[in-house]
Amino acid sequence: MYVVFLGAPGAGKGTQAAEVAKELKLAHIATGDMFRDAQKKGTKLALEAKTYMDKGMLVPDEITIKMVLERISAPDCVKGVIFDGFPRNLAQAQALDKAMAEQSKAIDHVVYIKVSEEELLKRLGGRWICRQCQSPYHEVASPPKVKGKCDKCGGELYQRSDDVPATIKERLKVFFAQTAPLIDYYSKTGKLVEVNGEGGMDEIKQRILKAVGKKSPR
Ligand code: AMP
Repeated sequence: MYVVFLGAPGAGKGTQAAEVAKELKLAHIATGDMFRDAQKKGTKLALEAKTYMDKGMLVPDEITIKMVLERISAPDCVKGVIFDGFPRNLAQAQALDKAMAEQSKAIDHVVYIKVSEEELLKRLGGRWICRQCQSPYHEVASPPKVKGKCDKCGGELYQRSDDVPATIKERLKVFFAQTAPLIDYYSKTGKLVEVNGEGGMDEIKQRILKAVGKKSPR
């Protein structure tokens, strides 16, 4: 099963995509994480991507599409993929459709996680992420048990360099200008399902599983 997760920055896409991918045993392709991982390794591609990421802008399509198309040809993607943060504009959506069609595959569902703008700003402002396992925390809504440490793996928590007010504003602007048109693109294919992204983490996960036709074992 191939599922695209759409949602503004702060909608909880990353958290839910990781959870749902684990539950359904699908590969999880998160382009933002791929760029951040590449930055740790200091590759040329990563340095180029960073200049865009730090401004809250999209990394150029030629870099992003190439990276994703390489990734989906890996063996762990054969059974299916949750796409998290990709596609982010029409050109990427069309490139993905074409690549999938060439492998006689297609996107099965597009889950749009919807959260109000007011809530997005609140969430992004106090976000902390584990450097090791990428688990997200929030200063107010979901603080870690020990300040600065991940509850799950003990890793160090950090704030993303693009989670600062000016960049947050730009990322939301980019979402509404470039990514939101994908809602229309995918709704025409009849594959789009809208899920309320406000509520408890498990509650939202259950809504997503239901939207893609899968029930949780619980
Ligand atoms: P994310 O972790 O999904 O919020 O992505 C962080 C940043 O990585 C974005 O603000 C972009 O600069 C870049 N990025 C992630 N995915 C894409 C994509 N599909 N196309 C272009 N840039 C991306």
